[in-house]
Amino acid sequence: MNKKYDMIAIGAGSGGLSAVERASEYGKKCLIIEAKTIGGTCVNVGCVPKKVMWFAANAATQINSAKGFGFEIDFKGFSFKTLKEGRDNYINGITSWYDGYLEKLGIDYIHGFGQLLDKNTVSVNGQTYTAEYIVLSPGGEPAVPNIEGAQRGITSDGFFELEVLPKKVAIIGGGYIGVELAGVLNALGSKVEIFGRASTLLSSFDPMIQTALEKDYSNHGIILHHQTQIDKVLADKTLVTNKGEFSGFDTIIWAVGRNPMTQNLGLENAGVKSDQRGFIPTDKFQMTNIENIFALGDATGRAPLTPVAIAAGRRLSDRLYNGMSDRYLNYDNIATVVFSHPPIGTIGLTEAQAQEKFDLVKIYKSEFTPMADALLEHKTTTALKLVCAGVDEKVVGCHIMGHGADEMLQGFAVAIKMGATKKQFDDTVAIHPTSAEELVTLR
Ligand code: FAD
Repeated sequence: MNKKYDMIAIGAGSGGLSAVERASEYGKKCLIIEAKTIGGTCVNVGCVPKKVMWFAANAATQINSAKGFGFEIDFKGFSFKTLKEGRDNYINGITSWYDGYLEKLGIDYIHGFGQLLDKNTVSVNGQTYTAEYIVLSPGGEPAVPNIEGAQRGITSDGFFELEVLPKKVAIIGGGYIGVELAGVLNALGSKVEIFGRASTLLSSFDPMIQTALEKDYSNHGIILHHQTQIDKVLADKTLVTNKGEFSGFDTIIWAVGRNPMTQNLGLENAGVKSDQRGFIPTDKFQMTNIENIFALGDATGRAPLTPVAIAAGRRLSDRLYNGMSDRYLNYDNIATVVFSHPPIGTIGLTEAQAQEKFDLVKIYKSEFTPMADALLEHKTTTALKLVCAGVDEKVVGCHIMGHGADEMLQGFAVAIKMGATKKQFDDTVAIHPTSAEELVTLR
């Protein structure tokens, strides 16, 4: 017999978990289905293990920095194995915590591959379950190009399985994941080359960020190959490209985008529409073209970030079950961080986007060596930009690269989301000596 639920979520990542968690808090009976590991991409092969690696890379950088401050350090080596074991244990701790947590909330959990049978019915492990509302939150998976020898490379998923630190790595893709993995591997001691199709790293970012990052990555020994198309990968991992052959790599990492995991979800059985790439379009309330079926997170193709999936999931359940009839996630002004070395924080419009949208745009920017690096041999850059629009100079974009940018941006994001103007930034007394103070003293 069918077991009946108020809500079923397919995919126990950031989005699905948040929707059922909030629904259960409102007393609703929920089921969540996960094919791989509870927690989804973020916890298992995304933000969390990536950030652990970023901290490790920072530690490596700080050992070198300490020398600049007079410390005589006898560096005896680094164990990638210890790092990986520690990281895996940390992740296992999070995923096992979920079991008890779901039980405590009274949420049923099934490990298996969920498929829609019709607009109210889901099948998993040969059983069927029905619900008034169904949430599709299957996330995405790394793309691998369809070229000869592509299987000789790994993806970001494979990066987290590495048992030894690669000696020489080719990272294919200059987007945020490629840039982040490059920074980590370079700091830990790998030789790194990035191959990208675009003419810059982070091609959708503000040009100030692109230039500053490329300068720093080049200064720190990362080799950049722009406008380079990989045609095939030979048995010895030589890359055959439009710019010639590149060899000597022991590891190749594809960081060329992510595809939604919607192929075998049974969308057609329920009449749910997806676009050409498989993303599921929704309205502002996360509703698909079928009234009782909602989609969240990376599978919708919008702002693929954990807090976005979480916010959308919570708001959905608030609306469905707590009488908040106009509650939805506004996708404007979502702050995002690239955990490069140094990190990048950005919110709102780039300079070019603002020029297109507004008649009057004023840019304030600054670039300097941060005080933290003043005594160091290898210095980094801090670059800041405020994009302001209109006569009242509303801040419509903020772009930061530099030490602390990741932590710095969150507070500024609140101000920008509230519609702060340049004058209000200027009226805020600076905190000195910091890099962040530059943002309230830009002229
Ligand atoms: P996911 O978290 O991907 O969860 C979907 C789950 O559904 C998966 O566990 C999958 O196995 C499961 N599933 C799929 N199909 C089925 C099915 N038919 N039946 C059952 N289960 C199914 N975001 C940030 O905000 N900050 C970061 O620093 C950051 N770093 C990242 C680094 C990397 C390397 C990657 C790859 C991603 C990173 N992200 C980051 C993005 C973030 O991980 C995603 O935006 C987020 O996980 C999306 O959540 P989701 O719920 O849409 O999907």
